[in-house]
Amino acid sequence: MNFSSKLLEDAVNEFSQLPGIGQKTALRLVLHLLNREPEEVERFGNAIIKLRQEIKHCTICHNISDNEICEICSSAKREKEIICVVEDTRDVMAVENTSQYFGVYHVLGGLISPMDGIGPSDLFIDTLVQRVSTTPVKEVILAISPTMEGDTTIFYLYKRLKAFQIPITTIARGIAFGGELEYADEITLGRSIVTRVPYENSILK
Ligand SMILES: [Zn+2]
Repeated sequence: MNFSSKLLEDAVNEFSQLPGIGQKTALRLVLHLLNREPEEVERFGNAIIKLRQEIKHCTICHNISDNEICEICSSAKREKEIICVVEDTRDVMAVENTSQYFGVYHVLGGLISPMDGIGPSDLFIDTLVQRVSTTPVKEVILAISPTMEGDTTIFYLYKRLKAFQIPITTIARGIAFGGELEYADEITLGRSIVTRVPYENSILK
């Protein structure tokens, strides 16, 4: 693409780094921004800068948060003794949208994937084990998509947690999740959380 302006080229190049955005779409977005009022574009830019500079991760559950401890972990209404383990923030949002879950979370920050060189030590697994061993926990729900990486991660977590002799459950299987938790519709996901099953049942079969 030949640009008549270096400023235009730089902006297009930045936008085209985003997932799913090719150069043509990037150009369309940049030209759109150019037609907006300067204050609007400034607000847009500032929101991104502020997001990157000020965002925190909850020191308890590792979810994205504005504070050291996220709103869910600090809420008196949430049941702290039930921990729902998920891959990332999108899954927290998906489960929250079901309005069927009132416990707390633990965000792993990814899944075990030997192919991609991601091992247990790259994820927030030790802090989960620490939570289970140092705070009263009644149940750990492994709300992880049943993909190959998901299954590997679930099995690894089960091995690490079973010594604590607390119920370890998984969200009901056999329901079409569309592969990823975040794509499951709210009713289906909500139902699968309510009808979660002990993990032992699925490995003894
Ligand atoms: Zn938290």
